[in-house]
Amino acid sequence: MTTSNSTVAKLDKASQNTYDALIVGAGFAGMYMLYQLRSLGFTAKVIEAGDGVGGTWYWNRYPGARCDVWSMEYSYQFSEELQQEWVWSQKYAPQPEILKYANHVADRFDLRKDIIFNTKVLSTKYIEETKIWTIKTDDNQVFNSQFCIMATGCLSTPNKPKFKGIDDFKGPWYHTGQWPHEGVDFTGKRVGIIGTGSSAIQSIPVIAEQAEQLFVFQRTANYTIPAHNKDLDLDFINEIKMDYQGLRDRAKLNRGGTAALRLNEVNAVDVSEEDRIQQYEKRWEEGGVPFMGSFQDLLLNPDSNKTAADFVKSKIDEIVNDPKVAELLKPKNIIGCKRLCVDTNYYQTFNQSHVNLIDVSETKIDSITEKGIKVGEYEYEVDAIVFATGFDAMTGALKNIDIIGTNNQTLNNKWEDGPRMYLGLLAKGFPNLFTITGPGSPSVLSNMLPSIEQHVDWISQCIQYLNDNNLTQIEPTIEAEEEWISHVNEVAGKSLRSTCDSWYVGANIAGKPRVFMPYIGGVPAYREKCEEIVSKGYEGFNLT
Ligand code: FAD
Ligand code: NAP
Repeated sequence: MTTSNSTVAKLDKASQNTYDALIVGAGFAGMYMLYQLRSLGFTAKVIEAGDGVGGTWYWNRYPGARCDVWSMEYSYQFSEELQQEWVWSQKYAPQPEILKYANHVADRFDLRKDIIFNTKVLSTKYIEETKIWTIKTDDNQVFNSQFCIMATGCLSTPNKPKFKGIDDFKGPWYHTGQWPHEGVDFTGKRVGIIGTGSSAIQSIPVIAEQAEQLFVFQRTANYTIPAHNKDLDLDFINEIKMDYQGLRDRAKLNRGGTAALRLNEVNAVDVSEEDRIQQYEKRWEEGGVPFMGSFQDLLLNPDSNKTAADFVKSKIDEIVNDPKVAELLKPKNIIGCKRLCVDTNYYQTFNQSHVNLIDVSETKIDSITEKGIKVGEYEYEVDAIVFATGFDAMTGALKNIDIIGTNNQTLNNKWEDGPRMYLGLLAKGFPNLFTITGPGSPSVLSNMLPSIEQHVDWISQCIQYLNDNNLTQIEPTIEAEEEWISHVNEVAGKSLRSTCDSWYVGANIAGKPRVFMPYIGGVPAYREKCEEIVSKGYEGFNLT
């Protein structure tokens, strides 16, 4: 590795397993973090639990998995050569293509030599005397580094509900977030799928093509907008590539970090019903998440929100033949409160006679039996079960690591009542421990790729600054942290998004404190705040 010019004076870098920075996770965040630190001349290693790069796209190999942000935007922009040479096949690329892209990036920038695969980080402790993080792994390795960077992902800890009797089930079961690499053939099988979030909504139509019988266990109906996915033609791709920077710049000005959203800066309640329907029809035809950009007040005013919700419900009535099934598929809550889903033929799938929708909203799933899934007194016999039950989002992966900061305080202890960080980047009591897209940053409410890049750039710049100024440690002040958390809560309180039982507020995990975790103030405001802090000499941080 390069000789680092870092100020890690107390680190004997000649000793084994000692680096300027240790990065946990080799998804898009960890990969770019490694690239950046290496480019700046620091020594760094990534530790990754899986045996390959790609994170989300390495683990989530379920049928139908794909992105729901336009591929041309859901990609790195740090290298103009990379974005010019890579050709996306579809508007929304399928998982294998995104994984191929991650592997291409790893090869192109020779990242693999500094990634340790098949290794899980179990704990990390800050040694105050030396100002060094000591990191321990599941294969008993010990690493030391001045900086520890968590690139552990917001949606990387699968939620496997503790159903009674799961061990009695005679057939195979799968979680969408840990799908077998060799794939699963459901041909001729009776399949039960639990959950109707994004993962289920993507996989149900594809599994239905194979399965002999499909039972969909729905606790809460979700809103989904057709993707209208399509192949990208080269003329379109080349047009974007002629001014890729222009597209990226427009995305930065958008709350969600994607130019595709094109927020209509008009209130739904201020236009005639005819105009409203026309707008919704147009957005429905365009497809995907930009539907929520139909009007600017959809997540602020319940009356406006109802107009969009009613429109989607009218589409369900149009598509689904059986009125009882249509009724069950109609969500009862606010549209966009839980993450809006994007599908290909989801509602249409329920017109097939071998696809059965089982309502478990009132009579819950009682248990898993030897033969299938029991709801109340009724047992649904199945050959295989798919858990599309989501993730312990945003905090799960961090809480799985025993993180011990100053005064022997653990992160789990600090976060007992919900995550507490400054800007989602650093937490008081945990100096030099950065998190990429941590709680309190736009993260999951935005196009994640540019948000990851923004965090990585900020962290790299910060480490470089410390190095250049003979500083060894950065830690937020308690005042700055508190003030930011209040702001995060205040803006969340104004949005209808904080009003339902979603994973954004931790409601999907028993006992998890109910806190709206991501920053909903939008990408432009957040970026501005991060830049302002730097321009004021890292205001709100103690640098020593
Ligand atoms: P991840 O990709 O989650 O990578 C984290 C890595 O850290 C994993 O490989 C994990 O194994 C590793 N890790 C965690 N803990 C440890 C440990 N203790 N020791 C060692 N390794 C560890 N976002 C969008 O913007 N657009 C989309 O269309 C979109 N689609 C998605 C579809 C699915 C199915 C899912 C689940 C998420 C989707 N997301 C999407 C969010 C997605 O997670 C991010 O876009 C992005 O891929 C996150 O990258 P990351 O590197 O931060 O985290
Ligand atoms: P999710 O949105 O949390 O959905 C989990 C589903 O499982 C919900 O329908 C939930 O019902 C159900 N469930 C959980 N426990 C249950 C139980 N005990 N009994 C019955 N049902 C139960 O998880 P996800 O679908 O994996 O998606 C998570 C996030 O990943 C998404 O919101 C999105 O950000 C990202 N993602 C994106 C895409 C994409 O399109 N690009 C695809 C997949 C995932 P309740 O709602 O009642 O809790």
